[in-house]
Amino acid sequence: MNSSISERIVTIRSSLPTSVRLIAVSKQVSAEAIRSAYAAGIRDFGESRIQEAAVKQAQLQDLSDITWHFIGHLQSNKAKKAIEQFQWIHSVDNLKLAVRLDQLAQELGVSPQVCLQVKILPDPNKSGWSVAELLADLPALNQCKTLQIQGLMTIPPSGLDDPKILSVFNRCHELAKEIQEQNWPYIKMQQLSMGMSGDYELAVQAGATMVRLGTILFGDRP
Ligand SMILES: *Cc1c(COP(=O)(O)O)cnc(C)c1O
Repeated sequence: MNSSISERIVTIRSSLPTSVRLIAVSKQVSAEAIRSAYAAGIRDFGESRIQEAAVKQAQLQDLSDITWHFIGHLQSNKAKKAIEQFQWIHSVDNLKLAVRLDQLAQELGVSPQVCLQVKILPDPNKSGWSVAELLADLPALNQCKTLQIQGLMTIPPSGLDDPKILSVFNRCHELAKEIQEQNWPYIKMQQLSMGMSGDYELAVQAGATMVRLGTILFGDRP
């Protein structure tokens, strides 16, 4: 049991509105540390690599009520593993991947919950739809009926000051509302996955429903 992890979890959890889902990002974190977080009440864990996650998931099989969230860039050849191992995929970042996941989900008889990753500002270092591309792809996304499209995920470009970060999160919230108002039968926009250790307070201010926190809970990664 690692008491500093549980203390940090208690502090952060109590600082968040109860409606905000706290996803503990456990990439590069040991299975033991995940057990400490679980003991402190965490049931949602985020991982960004399929293989690394598989090893820890095997070690943690007894914790059967964990919900696993995939948050990393997903290569198409790992798409099947992703929907076998994860209940949520926050990082669906292009139409081709969405269509592939939808087809695999049908074959496997599952209906994963997903967020669409969008770049509110241009960012060559990240994957995701631009706002214009996403709006153009909505009719095709609405055909992905086996995916449960639940909302948007965004990561602001690095190096922005707080007011600019806040404006990115606010714009993402507005975009979700705009899409919701179009009333697509198979696209829900109830979730906003935004906010990491350095900016989650701004994200919550802008209406995040899920925050993805790693270092602030588990300490610096190696
Ligand atoms: C690593 C990662 C996080 C967590 O980052 P921290 O700064 O450690 O909180 C959140 N989201 C994504 C997509 C990540 O890759």
